[in-house]
Amino acid sequence: MSFPISETSPVRFAGALPPRADVVVVGGGVIGVMTAWFLREKGLSVVVCEKGHIAGEQSGRNWGWVRQQGRDPGELPIMVESLSIWKRLAAEMGEGLGFKQTGVLYLAKTEREIEGFEAWTEHSRAHQLDTRLLTAGETMAMLKGAAAPWKGALWTASDARAEPWVAVPALAAVAEEKGVVIREACAVRGLDLAAGRVAGVVTEAGRIACDHVVVAAGAWSRLFLGAHGISIPQLSVLASVAATEPMPEIFPGNAADDDFAFRRRADGGYSIAPGARHDFFIGRDAFRSFGVYLPVLKKDFRSTNFRLAAPKGFPDAWGTPRRWSMDAPSPFERRRILNPAPNMQTLGEVQENFARAFPSLGRPKLKTAWAGMIDSLPDVVPIVDHAPIPGLTIATGMSGHGFGIGPGMGRVVADLVMGRPVGHDLSRFRLSRFSDVSRIEPGPSL
Ligand SMILES: Cc1cc2nc3c(=O)[nH]c(=O)nc-3n(C[C@H](O)[C@H](O)[C@H](O)COP(=O)(O)OP(=O)(O)OC[C@H]3O[C@@H](n4cnc5c(N)ncnc54)[C@H](O)[C@@H]3O)c2cc1C
Repeated sequence: MSFPISETSPVRFAGALPPRADVVVVGGGVIGVMTAWFLREKGLSVVVCEKGHIAGEQSGRNWGWVRQQGRDPGELPIMVESLSIWKRLAAEMGEGLGFKQTGVLYLAKTEREIEGFEAWTEHSRAHQLDTRLLTAGETMAMLKGAAAPWKGALWTASDARAEPWVAVPALAAVAEEKGVVIREACAVRGLDLAAGRVAGVVTEAGRIACDHVVVAAGAWSRLFLGAHGISIPQLSVLASVAATEPMPEIFPGNAADDDFAFRRRADGGYSIAPGARHDFFIGRDAFRSFGVYLPVLKKDFRSTNFRLAAPKGFPDAWGTPRRWSMDAPSPFERRRILNPAPNMQTLGEVQENFARAFPSLGRPKLKTAWAGMIDSLPDVVPIVDHAPIPGLTIATGMSGHGFGIGPGMGRVVADLVMGRPVGHDLSRFRLSRFSDVSRIEPGPSL
């Protein structure tokens, strides 16, 4: 079995495009869907255009962690809000989201890691979270049959999990019931500008007039914005994941150390993944942004497997055009879903690490494996801001942790679009930080 949402999956959302809407959202991941949800709740007419399928890219492929723990202090208040929205949605929608507050556990093998965890608790205290540092004994007591030599852990019991490829389409279905028009297999080729401001979008199915556009295009945002002269230093890394066959429960929540991460799934298996290892395709954008990524690269160099070229049609593949005509198929139509092959060698190591940590279970059997392209920014926090083109808002670069924060971020972006107070300080996420004299400060990436 491969990833359940593919280019050949039937279209589930086929809303009829109106000639005009208040807002058009580019991208049907969790950020686009939840932005549309909250805009519609405030009475606006909204269209979500998705070139492939809802949750076909990152929002369906992620680990399913809904965590406050380890977040950048700029994101944390939005994440606290997001968790309360998840709880409300789960109460309203029932089991469908797979949402459960089973906690997040970060496992430490060294004193240095424990010090890092301890430093982060300053932020949890500021928001009265239930985060605690656990001793080695307390840690081992939480994990049935564990044999790994963990010295302690960081634990937030109120953190949660959900089932990504089920939850995001389920949220989209409710958004549709609320009146959001959602259209899959509908790439937005570009913006239609009049007198320098947004007047609409050009999609492969025709033009939609609108006053506001939200770019929530995940790993494609740099390409999309670049065609309109807006440069963002976004790059993507390939992250591999596997789902195991059902197995006895050793821990009901989400846990990780440097070697591997696992999350209990609703089907009785675990989603397992490397803790830090990923693959990176070298391309033109990568060369251009090399300097600005040096601080994170230095931290991450040994866990990166560099590869010479991305598969054909990927946003930073060598042959992908940076400019195109609005009257012909664009790069977004040529590659509807980023579905890279997972790195099976890395996943094999994860199976070994899991078996070593839980010897009574042995090597977990894999039911399926997949990979996703994580869109990142050099400081590992997103851009959530108005663009220099009036009417254009950017919400992208969630940097590997946009699933959990998705509902809260959707509420924030909706208010930002409407020019209302958002209730949080968004200065950490401003677009200009990459072009003014700001120092790039990477987030904790714990
Ligand atoms: C392996 C992996 C593990 C992760 N684990 C976690 C986790 O446990 N917890 C967590 O919080 N986060 C996690 N993340 C990160 C999280 O999945 C992302 O941050 C989040 O899903 C980003 O949502 P998005 O809506 O911004 O982007 P996406 O989900 O990538 O959606 C963007 C959508 O835009 C569409 N699109 C692009 N261009 C166009 C266009 N021109 N026209 C129309 N449509 C377009 C794309 O097809 C895509 O569907 C993980 C990610 C991966 C890949």
